[in-house]
Amino acid sequence: MTQRGEFQIIEQFFTHAPFGAWTSQGPGDDCALIDIGGRRIAVTCDMAALGTHFLPDADPEDVGYKALAVNLSDLAAAGAVPRAFFLSIGLPRRDDGWLADFSRGMMALAQSTGCALLGGDTTRTPEIADGRHSPAVISITAMGDLPEGKGLTRAGAKPGDDVWVSGTVGDAYAALRCRQGHWDAMPDALPQLYARMDRPVPRLALGQALLDVATAAADVSDGLLADLGHILDRSGVSAEIDFDLVPRSTALRSMTPLRQREAALSGGDDYELVFTAPAELADRVRAIGVATNTLVTRIGRIEKRTSTALVVRSGEGLLPITAGFDHFAAEEA
Ligand code: ADP
Ligand code: MG
Repeated sequence: MTQRGEFQIIEQFFTHAPFGAWTSQGPGDDCALIDIGGRRIAVTCDMAALGTHFLPDADPEDVGYKALAVNLSDLAAAGAVPRAFFLSIGLPRRDDGWLADFSRGMMALAQSTGCALLGGDTTRTPEIADGRHSPAVISITAMGDLPEGKGLTRAGAKPGDDVWVSGTVGDAYAALRCRQGHWDAMPDALPQLYARMDRPVPRLALGQALLDVATAAADVSDGLLADLGHILDRSGVSAEIDFDLVPRSTALRSMTPLRQREAALSGGDDYELVFTAPAELADRVRAIGVATNTLVTRIGRIEKRTSTALVVRSGEGLLPITAGFDHFAAEEA
């Protein structure tokens, strides 16, 4: 299997010509945007497995929070207002303490965002050996409201548009590398990094405010370059970004330049928004950042499509483009 394994699987096995009464723009976006009787809703579905998306010993309250937060982040990328979600969960065993913490983390976020749990499914994971079952898996489908005919997608970026990113990128990946013992950070920087990994904040207010301003948007789940790459592919454009403009936290800036680059450009799990907007609306984007209390930074420019989709400059010259996260990248078909 080639490098883009996960996306190749989706394209080869799960992409079909549209059929049925409910149509959307097809797979490839953070959300499906579905028009039903004069209303438009955004729907997204994300699965997480303990041991893959979470360290096996992750705090269950964080697991519950983040399992929902990553879905709300997809709704944020569409500019939708969260309304409801469905929870399917596979558990290796009944552990009431774990479940109480998990549900407390999840429901606190559900309540604070007005996103109600309306259904789901509960099963046991398969036995793998000697009465031991495979780790917990959690799949959430979340839905939100959009104004009629509106909604941000990854298609729509135009040559001349600015490329923007919210917040700072790279912290969640740096936190993971520190937790795995591969990297280290100043002790007082660690709590901040861990919070970014465990408690990502879906940029809901920003996404909603960008509905009439942004031409394309995606949330940064696989890495800044990978998710911007999805926008470029879906929009049929190229981009040039300046690494020196890419917003990084003080904690990340205390690390070596090479690690900063790896984390900020290729590390996933930040759940910031990367989006494009016409250059003449830059002041409006900045005002939206202030109004929604979100840092927004212009990091580059969209250009006409050429053979190189993405160029990353820095003070030292051009940087190599590295791939983002892909669940099946290294596997043989
Ligand atoms: P995100 O990271 O925003 O959750 P993904 O990268 O997981 O999005 O998925 C890319 C696109 O492929 C999305 O539009 C998603 O809905 C679609 N997709 C992923 N897996 C499947 C599948 N098994 N069947 C159909 N569509 C899928
Ligand atoms: Mg997404």
